[in-house]
Amino acid sequence: MKLLKPMWLVKDIVTLTPEDFQKLGVRTIFIDVDNTLIALDNPFHNQDMQTWVKALQAKHIEVVALSNNTTKHVQTLVEPFGIPFVANAKKPTLLGLKKAMACVQAKKEYSILIGDQLFTDILAGNRMGIRTILVKSLGKKDLFATKIIRNIEKRVLGYICRKYHLNWR
Ligand SMILES: [Mg+2]
Repeated sequence: MKLLKPMWLVKDIVTLTPEDFQKLGVRTIFIDVDNTLIALDNPFHNQDMQTWVKALQAKHIEVVALSNNTTKHVQTLVEPFGIPFVANAKKPTLLGLKKAMACVQAKKEYSILIGDQLFTDILAGNRMGIRTILVKSLGKKDLFATKIIRNIEKRVLGYICRKYHLNWR
C-alpha cells in the first residue's frame, strides 16, 4: 500500500508556486499529460497551465511530460507548452521515467512526479523513489479502461487517506 501513497494530494496543481517547489528542493517536475497537464475533454484550453509551466521554467525548474499515451497524441498536446516529453512511458513500470530522467539528467532527490492516477503515475514515482503528488483529474472524459480503473482507485485512495491521514489541499 505504501507504494501507492502520494506525498501530497493537491486539488489544483497551479496553486503550487515555483517557490513551493524550491522549498521542497525540486529542480525537475515530471508531469502526466492526460487529465493532469491538459483536460482530455478540453485539451486546448490550458492557458492557466501554460502560465504555471512558464513561471516554473523562469525559476529554472524543469518540467518534463511523461505519458503512457502515443507519441502522436502527446506531441500535439504538449507542443504549446514547449517542454520535453516521453510518450509510451508504460507507467507504472520505470521504463519511461528512467528515460525521462536520463534525458534531462535529473536526480531522484531533486525530482517530483505529478499525476492524476494512483496505479500508473504515483506507483511509478514511488517505485523510482521520487516524491509524488496526486492531483484531481482535470477532465471528465476518460478512456474506457481508465474509467474502470478510476473506480478501483477511488476506493484504494479512500483507504490510503484514512490509514495515513492524508487530505486534499
Ligand atoms: Mg492521467
